[in-house]
Amino acid sequence: MEIMPNRMDRGFFRYQEAFEKKALEVLRSGRYVLGEEVEAFEREFAAFTGAKHCVGLASGLDALWMAFRLLGIGPGDEVIVQANAYIASVMGITINGATPVFVEPDEYFALDAEQIEEKITEKTKAVLVVHLYGQAARMDRIVALCRKHKLRLVEDCAQSHGACYQGKMTGTFGDIGCFSFYPSKNLGGFGDGGAIVTDDGQLAGEMKVYRNYGSEKRYYNKVVGTNSRLDELQAGLLRVRLSHLQELTQERRQLAERYGQGIHNPGIQLPKVRDQADSVWHQYVVRCDARQELIRFLQERGIGTLIHYPIPPHLSQAYVYLGFSRGSFPITERMADTVLSIPMYNGMTEEEQEYVIEALNQF
Ligand SMILES: *Cc1c(COP(=O)(O)O)cnc(C)c1O
Repeated sequence: MEIMPNRMDRGFFRYQEAFEKKALEVLRSGRYVLGEEVEAFEREFAAFTGAKHCVGLASGLDALWMAFRLLGIGPGDEVIVQANAYIASVMGITINGATPVFVEPDEYFALDAEQIEEKITEKTKAVLVVHLYGQAARMDRIVALCRKHKLRLVEDCAQSHGACYQGKMTGTFGDIGCFSFYPSKNLGGFGDGGAIVTDDGQLAGEMKVYRNYGSEKRYYNKVVGTNSRLDELQAGLLRVRLSHLQELTQERRQLAERYGQGIHNPGIQLPKVRDQADSVWHQYVVRCDARQELIRFLQERGIGTLIHYPIPPHLSQAYVYLGFSRGSFPITERMADTVLSIPMYNGMTEEEQEYVIEALNQF
């Protein structure tokens, strides 16, 4: 059997009719940028998260760097972030000329709340939480720390659409929640897309101006902005997917549950589930000391896997200038050397999953 780590086509075919109907509707509307679909999506996505406002953007990376830009964070400022973040999370900070200050993750692959305080200096302006693999960080502690030290809080929710901590949705704990709608995400479009959510009406207004060359009224530019607009086509298609997100998340939870019950190989460590955090299982990430052998073993049986992520940002060539080296963040480096994302996607059949479980147990 051939099993790919992700199957985005399954997510399309399940709702094919609705997607095709919406695509034609937008194509025939004659309005392709900043129209009704974007406005409707922004309303619906804000309502979904429980935030007051949503602003559609061109990508998740744009959401991140524009969030820090509008919060006034730039050269000379420090932002605390987990060392095992995705590289784009870190780029959201450094594009603005600010400095990322890395913290080792906890056992749930999340920013370790207990290690934040010792990293705070007078230059610290914000904390960036990345809800990696779909599971929320310990937000009660992190929010309290940010309040105590008067730090801005930005959440990278590119992998956590719909994930909650203590019943509250990720993206709504801090000043700004940043989302990506890249096709492989839990709420994925058919191309690039992103958004921010916030309760701050002024900030949302400024973001709408900033994404459109800094202009509120056409050809009157208030600030030097950028071009980062969510297309009408993407927004329309995302509305279709959003209307099914709850059932899609439910399905992923069921898949995760079956993996959890089915895999019992002492050489393979299953992901830990945080109390009061209901993961949306963007990835199902196991750990294995003999990862290379495991990858090969699965490959021989037609099972594809991915590594999220093989090189932590501080060891990436792009960030040599930060001056870190191997050994700087041992917990993170150990994770990078042992994590493996096994197949997890909407539309995965029971037969496919059984096949993967059997192979993992045989290894
Ligand atoms: C995908 C992703 C991003 C970047 O989103 P793009 O839309 O690809 O720019 C940022 N952070 C995390 C954690 C991601 O998974």
